Amino acid sequence: MSPLPETPQRLSILGVSVDCVDFAATLAQIDSWVQQRRLAAAPLPCRQICTVNPEFIVDASRNPAFATVLANADLCVPDGAGVLWAAAQLGRQLPERVTGSDGIYHICARAAQRGWRVFFLGAAPGVAQRTAQQLARLYPGLPVAGCYAGSPTEKEWAAISAALHGASPDILFVAYGHPRQDFWIHNRRTELPAAVAIGVGGAFDFVAGVTPRAPAWLQQLNLEWLHRLLTQPWRWRRMLKLPIFVWKVFRQHRQTPSTDPS
Ligand code: UDP
Repeated sequence: MSPLPETPQRLSILGVSVDCVDFAATLAQIDSWVQQRRLAAAPLPCRQICTVNPEFIVDASRNPAFATVLANADLCVPDGAGVLWAAAQLGRQLPERVTGSDGIYHICARAAQRGWRVFFLGAAPGVAQRTAQQLARLYPGLPVAGCYAGSPTEKEWAAISAALHGASPDILFVAYGHPRQDFWIHNRRTELPAAVAIGVGGAFDFVAGVTPRAPAWLQQLNLEWLHRLLTQPWRWRRMLKLPIFVWKVFRQHRQTPSTDPS
């Protein structure tokens, strides 16, 4: 699917497109997609938002199928501090981190104002419900269309599809972790009865209090990754991708200084 004409400017980091958006622009884009779908005579394919961090970019460099998912997403928001750093190395500036973990709050706040129906799919049993309850407490009137844990496996699709068609959401949050959630949305986007689907990784765990989020001061120091490593040490192998990312960015920068085409 080709992006909307109003899709904001993109830049390329190690071959992965990242949109130069902040939360305000992201919410405006979602608003426009929800309106389009509500006004359309026939159902439109679901729009996909990917929350790109350095791990996504390293994974895409190793897995062409994942690179294709990201290349076809309607919006690739800059989730990780490393993505903003990499853009700066290329002489570009991204306005702010647009994380799935913060985005879920921003989107639900707007959903409560606009009446967007939100559906929470994924995480461990019961976590999606607790996420919805917490967000409904924060944003009174939030239209919760439904919650379902499920899994991204093929055998779950019939049950998930039935739940989604019964709920008819505008926004679908998918918390199956990357890259599975992003493949899942990509592969189902013509069948998903929602205006927008966004993979949010561990955001439900943060909102529901299953996993502690890094304190704001650590996030401001761009050390959220360190907090994750200390609180979830089993992530160490995945986190080795961070130095790989830094090395690849330096290498690209040395080879092609300021040749970003966008
Ligand atoms: N998860 C799930 N089903 C699966 C695999 C993962 O519901 O088959 C959930 C898991 O419970 C967690 C989220 O997906 O809530 C993954 O969180 P993580 O922080 O690892 O996301 P990532 O950083 O990988 O995007």
